[in-house]
Amino acid sequence: MTDLMPAALVPEDAEARRAVAPVICYPNRSLPKPDLGWMHDIRQRAIKTDEVLVPPRDARCFEVPAGHFFRITSVEGPQVGDLNLWNLSDLSERFYSGKTRALHGTHLTTGERMWSSFPHLRPMATITADTLDWYGIDGFGGSVHDVIGTRCDPYTGNLLSDTQYHHCCHSNLTRALADHLDIPLDQAEPAVHDVLNVFMCTGFTRDTGQYFMKASPVRPGDYLEFFAEIDLLGNLSACPGGDCSSEHSSDTAACYPLLVEVFAPAEGEVAGWDSPPPNGYDRSHGR
Ligand SMILES: [Zn+2]
Repeated sequence: MTDLMPAALVPEDAEARRAVAPVICYPNRSLPKPDLGWMHDIRQRAIKTDEVLVPPRDARCFEVPAGHFFRITSVEGPQVGDLNLWNLSDLSERFYSGKTRALHGTHLTTGERMWSSFPHLRPMATITADTLDWYGIDGFGGSVHDVIGTRCDPYTGNLLSDTQYHHCCHSNLTRALADHLDIPLDQAEPAVHDVLNVFMCTGFTRDTGQYFMKASPVRPGDYLEFFAEIDLLGNLSACPGGDCSSEHSSDTAACYPLLVEVFAPAEGEVAGWDSPPPNGYDRSHGR
C-alpha cells in the first residue's frame, strides 16, 4: 500500500481479511511415496557407468536409463547448475517446474521428485541424496535447489540492460541440446524449459516479494543425487553466475565445472520394478 491510496478505499475489515489463515493448495499426503529405502539399498551396489564434466559457462547433455542413478557434484569451487530433463524418447515430456513447485514447495530435497509436463504428470526423477539438506530455510527465507527461478537467459538481459550475452544458461542448454541431438539451434531452443536450480540459494523478499539469490552454501564435494524413474535425457548448465553471490548473465563471476556421474544398479536388482505410468486422467476434458 502507498501513501497515495485514499484511506476510504481500505475496507474496515481489511485486517480481518488479512488475518485469514492460509490453506495448502495441494496437500501432498496422497502423493505416491518413493521407496527411498529400496533406492538407497540398491544404490550401495550400483556401479559407475558414465561421467560428464560440464565446463563453466557451458552445458552438456547426458543420458540416464530408468532405474539408474545420477549425481551432480560441485568440484573445484562453489557453482550453481541449471538442470533440464526430458523423456529420452519423447522430448514433449519434459520437467514441469511450476507443478513440481505446487506439489513440493519452492525448493526440493531428498524424497521429493521432479514431475513431468501434461498430459504425463509423472515422476521423472526422485532425489535420493542431498548433502545440503542441513541448510533448511535461512533467516531471509532462502533455501537451496529451487524451482522458482526459470534460468538466466539473454532475452531478459536484453530487455533490462540491452545486452547481447551468449553464455546464459538458456543459451548453454540450447547449444548442448542441439549438439547432442545434432539438430539446429532454432529446433533445440523451444525444447529448453524452466529448470531445477541445483545448489542455488534463493527466495522471495518478505517486504516486496521479489525473487532474490545469495551466495550458494555449496562447497566442492557436495552433491545432489537422483533415481531416474524413466529413461532420461538430462542437460546441465554451469551458470555464468558461479555461486550466484552477486551477478549472473555476464563473465564477471568466478565459475567452476560441475560433474555428472551415472550409476547402474547391479544385475537384476530392478527386475521387478517398472517406470511410473503416465497420469491416469482420461483426457476427454468434458467432451
Ligand atoms: Zn544461469
